[in-house]
Amino acid sequence: MKLRQETALTFDDVLLMPQRSSIRSRHAVDTSTQFTRHIRLGVPVVSSNMDTVTESAMAIAMARTGGIGVLHRFMTIERQADEVSRVKRAEGYVVEHPYTLQDTATVRQAKEALIEHAIGGLLIVDAAGTLVGLVSTRDLIFEALDDLAVTNVMTPREKLVTVQEGTSLEDARAVLRMHRLEKLPVLDAQGGLSGLITAQDIVKLELWPNATKDERGRLRVAAALGTKREDIERAAACVNAGVDALVIDIAHGHSDSVIEMTRALKQYFPKVDVVAGNVASAAGVRDLAEAGADAVKVGVGAGSICITRIVTGFGVPQLMAVDECAQAGQRLGVPIIADGGIRTSGDITKALAVGASTVMLGSLLAGTDEAPGASVVRNGRRFRVVRGMASLTANIDRREVDLKREVDPEEWERVVPEGVEAMVPARGPVRDMLYQLVGGYRSGLSYAGAANIQELWANAEFVRITSAGKSESSAHDVSVS
Ligand code: IMP
Repeated sequence: MKLRQETALTFDDVLLMPQRSSIRSRHAVDTSTQFTRHIRLGVPVVSSNMDTVTESAMAIAMARTGGIGVLHRFMTIERQADEVSRVKRAEGYVVEHPYTLQDTATVRQAKEALIEHAIGGLLIVDAAGTLVGLVSTRDLIFEALDDLAVTNVMTPREKLVTVQEGTSLEDARAVLRMHRLEKLPVLDAQGGLSGLITAQDIVKLELWPNATKDERGRLRVAAALGTKREDIERAAACVNAGVDALVIDIAHGHSDSVIEMTRALKQYFPKVDVVAGNVASAAGVRDLAEAGADAVKVGVGAGSICITRIVTGFGVPQLMAVDECAQAGQRLGVPIIADGGIRTSGDITKALAVGASTVMLGSLLAGTDEAPGASVVRNGRRFRVVRGMASLTANIDRREVDLKREVDPEEWERVVPEGVEAMVPARGPVRDMLYQLVGGYRSGLSYAGAANIQELWANAEFVRITSAGKSESSAHDVSVS
């Protein structure tokens, strides 16, 4: 038997040795890190590209808290691009391509557009795209005559306060305050519509000082894709919508198709960072980095909903995989994302201490309010669904999106699932969840005597534990209420 190494350890096999610390408060540590070569995060947490975890609501919440979300790819190209633009529009003090409505529209159409885009006001334009007015929820809410032209209820252009392109945040704030306005259209030098500033967006900027933003003040977001020919089209649509990073999401990422896709994406979209994965060996990191990857995702078989190791016999215990991959990643200057198997903030600290730059979370976040999908009540407790992207139902749903028709029940038998469907307890807002997880990591940094992730990498020293050590680690010999 060709044995790579005697033992491959994972999270529960080890603990970190406390180190002498000069950190006086867990707020005195720096939790920032690299997601990719060019994207920096305030906190080292990424939400997984699973359809029960990350759509725009999750991506917005993650970026506001200082992390980032990876939008899953199991939707049409148009929808994924729309999800990207929802995140890019969520913040920033100027909305660059605000939603507009033609002046020929009715009140009913205006009401529908506000609901569809989940916004509070719409700019009305003529056939040439020139601004003619603004209609807000307040103008429409009590308007019973749905067939009336929207121009009858809007505020006409001559009564609108507008500002010129290039107006600073401070000046915009002053104009909004002086006129007690909520919305401020931005005009270019020729008087054409160039953007929209809203009071709500300015307030949001102040609420989330640690948010992950691009150079224009918009929240950052990543999007997953596969390796088919149409995935180049998918990438182009997401890039046009403003995506910050493309994530090649393949279970066995150390493969020619992922290497070729990485090269192609770097060639077509040189300004967008590319994350490639998943791999579990140094050779995998090296090959993807050589192809141009700006970060590599590590994890084969570690996910909570994953049965790859049972079905195929392949996988590497996650802490060892991250250890080996991170050594290669640090040599090559490529950040490592530890993906899968994280259950606690202690696991986050261990994954980072062994060399990862960020962790990707699936089922830990699937229970939060921002995860897609409905929640269910069982025995008086609320749960949310989480499912592996290679589970039976996810496979079938995906085929239905691809084929644009229902899949016959006989075809179900041909699926060989590598994931399961499950439920996790509902956990409230992402913000609260991340506060706990990042709070645990902050304490971890102080136990390591580390002011930041580089010092954690340098100081980390692990001890291997036995099952007795493991049971000592949880609350024991008491009845936990
Ligand atoms: P978790 O945080 O332990 O729930 O792991 C989440 C990770 O599991 C994801 O980010 C994926 O890398 C992986 N994953 C998702 N779906 C599947 C599947 O069906 N089979 C195997 N791995 C999966």
